[in-house]
Amino acid sequence: MPQVGFGVFQVPDDEAERVVTVALEAGYRSIDTASAYGNEEGVGRALRDSAVPREELFVTTKLWNDEQGYDNALRACEASLSRLGLDYLDLYLIHWPMTARDTYLETWRALERLKRDGRVRSIGVSNFTVETLRRVIEEADVVPAVNQIELHPYLQQDGLRAFHRDHGIRTEAWAPLGQGQGLLDDPALDRIARDHGRTPAQIVLRWHLQIGNVVIPKSVTPSRIAENIDLSGFELSPDDLKTIGELDKGIRVGPDPATFGAA
Ligand code: NAD
Repeated sequence: MPQVGFGVFQVPDDEAERVVTVALEAGYRSIDTASAYGNEEGVGRALRDSAVPREELFVTTKLWNDEQGYDNALRACEASLSRLGLDYLDLYLIHWPMTARDTYLETWRALERLKRDGRVRSIGVSNFTVETLRRVIEEADVVPAVNQIELHPYLQQDGLRAFHRDHGIRTEAWAPLGQGQGLLDDPALDRIARDHGRTPAQIVLRWHLQIGNVVIPKSVTPSRIAENIDLSGFELSPDDLKTIGELDKGIRVGPDPATFGAA
């Protein structure tokens, strides 16, 4: 799985084709969408029209909350594959645990079957807590390959990251730039960016890479799309990492999985 991918949350279907084309030209090979984003068709058109061979692409999509349940999940995967115009997915995720429904375990069983049947190469989850992950691990045959969670310097998720490490689960950061709001204006990040002659966004993304996270930054602006994958040729020092490590404020930009869908 490439450590840097391209996210398309809130990109309308007719724009998705253009921005994914720009991203592929900039060198991204991993694309993160979801049935809930309503843009799988646009993403699929860009993938099909590009010269990049299918085996070099890494395509992730997610099953939405109303698609949970064993049979629903099997159908949802086929619907996503058909909208994307693909015959397999590289990674298929349960978007939210939605604990009040209590269907995520049977949904997981369906994902295990999709993996056995070759419709998806890897299966994982998103927005799972230690508690919901523990239940999946205890009761399922396959350990989730990935947990995609909100993670950025203002929400560093040390507890979940340690749990992932102990169980061989890859940590994938959504909103890796904190959705741009406030985080990228942080004076400490600005100072580190000036030291390295880079932008605050590149400093944040480089921090993710150095602590082992997979990132899927989103932008619809070609210069930023290129900037967000131009992360080699510099390295954050132990002091830089320590400074960024101290920025954690427990601030979320999205819903809290412990309460969203829990009642
Ligand atoms: P992000 O942290 O990637 O921030 C994107 C925003 O940051 C952009 O809209 C833009 O305003 C700003 N930005 C981007 N590049 C910049 C740059 N170089 N300089 C300055 N500003 C810049 O937030 P996101 O889109 O919420 O998250 C990334 C991806 O994660 C999504 O597109 C989606 O694929 C995924 N995601 C998943 C979930 C989930 O529940 N699993 C939830 C949200 C997002």
